[in-house]
Amino acid sequence: MTNAPITADAEAALLASVPNQLFIGGEWVDSTSGRSIAVTDPATGRTIATIADASPEDGVRAMDAAAAAQADWAATAPRVRGEILRRAFDLLQERADDFALLMTLEMGKPFAEARGEVTYGGEFLRWFSEEAVRISGRYGINPEGSGRMIVTHLPVGPSYLITPWNFPLAMATRKIAPALAAGCTAIVKPAELTPLTTLLFAKLLDDAGLPAGVLNVVTTSTASTVSEPILSDPRLRKLSFTGSTAVGVSLLKQAADGVLRTSMELGGNAPFIVFDDADLDKAVDGAMLAKFRNIGQACTAANRFIVHESVADEFARRVTEKVRALSVGRGTESGVTIGPLINEAAVAKANDLVSDAVSRGATVAIGGHAIDGEGTFYEPTVLTGVTAGSDILRNEIFGPVLSIIPFTDEADAVAKANDTEFGLVGYVFTENLARGQRLIESLQTGMMGLNVGVVSNAGAPFGGMKQSGIGREGGSEGIHEYLETKYVLTPNPFS
Ligand code: NAP
Repeated sequence: MTNAPITADAEAALLASVPNQLFIGGEWVDSTSGRSIAVTDPATGRTIATIADASPEDGVRAMDAAAAAQADWAATAPRVRGEILRRAFDLLQERADDFALLMTLEMGKPFAEARGEVTYGGEFLRWFSEEAVRISGRYGINPEGSGRMIVTHLPVGPSYLITPWNFPLAMATRKIAPALAAGCTAIVKPAELTPLTTLLFAKLLDDAGLPAGVLNVVTTSTASTVSEPILSDPRLRKLSFTGSTAVGVSLLKQAADGVLRTSMELGGNAPFIVFDDADLDKAVDGAMLAKFRNIGQACTAANRFIVHESVADEFARRVTEKVRALSVGRGTESGVTIGPLINEAAVAKANDLVSDAVSRGATVAIGGHAIDGEGTFYEPTVLTGVTAGSDILRNEIFGPVLSIIPFTDEADAVAKANDTEFGLVGYVFTENLARGQRLIESLQTGMMGLNVGVVSNAGAPFGGMKQSGIGREGGSEGIHEYLETKYVLTPNPFS
């Protein structure tokens, strides 16, 4: 399908194949509430599917199923767990176009980008299928010589995984794959706006041979009431959340009551620094990726372009030219590079941030308006001369708006970059090696792109500092979020 036009029939056939019930204990079941959720296409505003709306009782049922399956899954050989994940990876490659199209339909991203997410999201399955058999421990003599110390790692236990709408597949696989590899069972709650990809993925895991109850999916329009009994259940041992910092903070408070292990992948406000010694072509290409990928709706999206005053005008001119060439439309149409924003609220937010920046002295180089008509579209926008105090420098824009702030010297750039409570990722463009190395140490972010505009990789630890989160997903670190460390002391066998 990748190069063929996407037809209405193909869309309808795919949507008809997506389960519309809850997945609990290996069965597709109706919600006890009897209610349903309408899922819409943000490019048209039309309903594309109607699915089960879980009640708190369904949350408890999912908890029961995850708890019942935990002991057997933990006892399943790591190689077997890994092979199921590897089969899921293979099946995902076979069904890549379906998953990509489904994400385009429910979330809006251009089909080519959705294919990229299938690749990225799939890599977590492959990576953690390999990590499942590399959970190592250690054995040693204690410092006194009187005993032998054993350190081993065991699954944390049933885990609750809450995911956002912006990367419907990758945010799910980034949690599900390490949890399952580690031997944990899970309950997944996808975002209300984009639940279909997770439902189809649960079906794929079932096809890959995942035993009943190891993964359970609850879709709901009442996230907090369905989550409450799960989070307060003593059988739950872990919460992994990706979403906004505000919701993360409230979930951390709830998790404290059960002293749950938590992983928090929260909001960002990424600085993108362009020094006067940067290769401007590289910086402009990096900027387009860091800003406009996923229609600007990424936690890693560059939010503040901090550009040396001597190159700010030229940088603005070149990115404006690139932005002029972007093509806005429904993500299923060929050549489209910018889809819709997720909903009306996202358009209103972009509008407010741009208006505020302009009222404080910024200039609109291109764009700056919502697009009238069907769907929730916003023009790709470049703002120059954004001034201190503008709301756009404090808030995640989550839209296709590129804001340029000039700086004077390295200390000024670092101070501006770190002037935020967030610390997920930063981007630095410089051809000066020592300067790049200084920025690695002075930028208060969990990740940094040095002369690149995208950093995400299944083999690397993804996560933030400050209010951007706790813990890491991916890399060799990712599986440890789902493992307890157990230490055992035995006497000296010679005495
Ligand atoms: P959100 O509003 O915080 O929602 C995230 C998830 O939490 C959704 O599944 C949501 O369900 C659920 N939720 C909301 N309130 C809840 C509650 N009281 N109890 C339990 N669950 C609750 O965030 P979003 O708008 O979907 O996603 C955008 C945010 O995610 C941005 O801030 C972005 O930076 C962040 N993000 C971070 C990363 C990262 O790795 N650091 C990656 C991607 C996105 P409903 O959909 O039903 O409300």
